[in-house]
Amino acid sequence: MIKKDKDELSELRLDLVSDDWVVISKARRMRPEMFSKKISKRAVATRSQCPFCDPKILDRAIFKKGDIISIPNDFPIFSYKDDLNERSLGPYHIMDGVGFHEVIITLDHNKHIALSKKEEIKDIIDVYQARYLALKEYKFIKYISIFHNHGRAAGASIIHPHSQLVASPVIDPDLKDSIDGAENYHKKHGACVYCTMLDWDRKEGKRIIYENESFIVLCPFAPQSDFEVRIYPKLHNPDFENITDEEKMSFADAISVALGKIYKGLNDPDYNFYIHTAPINVLGHKNYHWHLVILPKTSIFAGFEMSSSIEVNTISPEEAAEFLRKIK
Ligand SMILES: [Zn+2]
Ligand SMILES: [Zn+2]
Ligand SMILES: [Zn+2]
Repeated sequence: MIKKDKDELSELRLDLVSDDWVVISKARRMRPEMFSKKISKRAVATRSQCPFCDPKILDRAIFKKGDIISIPNDFPIFSYKDDLNERSLGPYHIMDGVGFHEVIITLDHNKHIALSKKEEIKDIIDVYQARYLALKEYKFIKYISIFHNHGRAAGASIIHPHSQLVASPVIDPDLKDSIDGAENYHKKHGACVYCTMLDWDRKEGKRIIYENESFIVLCPFAPQSDFEVRIYPKLHNPDFENITDEEKMSFADAISVALGKIYKGLNDPDYNFYIHTAPINVLGHKNYHWHLVILPKTSIFAGFEMSSSIEVNTISPEEAAEFLRKIK
């Protein structure tokens, strides 16, 4: 099932200034003249055209739990090969885009996560964890990214509910910054920065939306976008994949509440969510604290962000949390 054709492999290139890796995709390659064409805004919406509603999809399942399956992505960012082929080109560094890219699909075309039962969300988390643990075994994998795009504005080209899992030989630049930030905070203050924020936010209560036995749902003090919602485990834990069965039920409950409130309160907006968790097969991340970030696409004011990396929110996280708290 895994494509081994060398021509299909992406290339990873290191930016010598920022020290961040970028991908030059071969499987998703476009011809230069395609960039000037208007991209169709319509996502595949009907069942008859939907590739994930094809009954043969079950034959491609790598893993199945309840009505959730994981299959290899047809247009993988990374594909499996046994070496990274690291090399230099003048001052530059390159390696092959070796890794894995899977699509985690809910078999029911119409079952948005926000409308799913907690048990069904638990099945999704079970598949996330099972695939994470399986791919973590490959020693060249440094980071596994799990994300879900809902709606065209969030980048989903297929409406059928699905998440993606990308196992990569390099660490996501955004995550690298967070890991470094958490380590630096710990050096200065001798505490986990996330635990510190959670303690304060729970005492203050203003940004808390919901709490259950093991998880907290809140709007962060310094959000990246309007109505950003985060879900944190209450106990310090760098690694998502160590989540216990009991915690998974509690996590499913927190996701269900968070997405349900966003669905009702904001009228089913497009959104992205992703899990931020510690890198693997590399040391020095015990002060990280894994979490899930939900970014609804609600922003109507986008002028300033385009020319600067300072986020401009049009609603405070305190007001956003108060609003979402009241949604039943
Ligand atoms: Zn479908
Ligand atoms: Zn912590
Ligand atoms: Zn994060």
